[in-house]
Amino acid sequence: MTTTRLAVAGLTPLSTCDWPGQLVATVFLQGCPLACTYCHNPSLIDARVPGSVEWASVLDLLARRRGLLDGVVFSGGEPTRQLALRAAMLEVRELGYGVGLHTAGVYPSRLEQVLPLVDWVGLDIKCVPRLYPAQTGVNAWGKAFASLRLVQRAGVAMQVRTTVDPTVQTPDDVLELTSLLATLGVDEHVLQQVRPDGTTAAYQEALHAGQPL
Ligand code: SF4
Repeated sequence: MTTTRLAVAGLTPLSTCDWPGQLVATVFLQGCPLACTYCHNPSLIDARVPGSVEWASVLDLLARRRGLLDGVVFSGGEPTRQLALRAAMLEVRELGYGVGLHTAGVYPSRLEQVLPLVDWVGLDIKCVPRLYPAQTGVNAWGKAFASLRLVQRAGVAMQVRTTVDPTVQTPDDVLELTSLLATLGVDEHVLQQVRPDGTTAAYQEALHAGQPL
């Protein structure tokens, strides 16, 4: 699969926070199989929507920013959904940049294929296993767990992140998740506050009322 098939929905030319400690360009890939309650970029979910940024323009940016950027983060959407991701990572590495990946781990076999090209993973573990359907619309815990194990076995640097959604998760649920991840050997787990901007009106109302969606 070549990079001409890569559907790029957006490009942030400079980010200081998408890969801790690194100056990166962030590439947002179109399409995601999940439907998180708090998704603040729902326009990225539909996999049928074509990309709006040419991959060639990403490569142009990287050619111009040599020495100024440390790496490229592939984000989404769910970047591992796209089969052209591996070819894109190879091109980024050939230009001398590091590769970071944001993923919810929902395609473990595709993740396994690209992991040898990845220097750092930001893995979203959304919630405790039983809440996955309510949090993401999909019973995706098994896949997320398989991905966690793959990254651990590969020895790739990883930060596990959870966006705490108070319309789905109680403080006890969050404590349970933190404890579960510690049991699974996760040593960097970051809790993120939900951001209402870009979410649906129904979600913003539920968040404001402190009620389930
Ligand atoms: S994984 Fe990200 S892009 Fe996909 S639905 Fe959830 S928040 Fe939105």
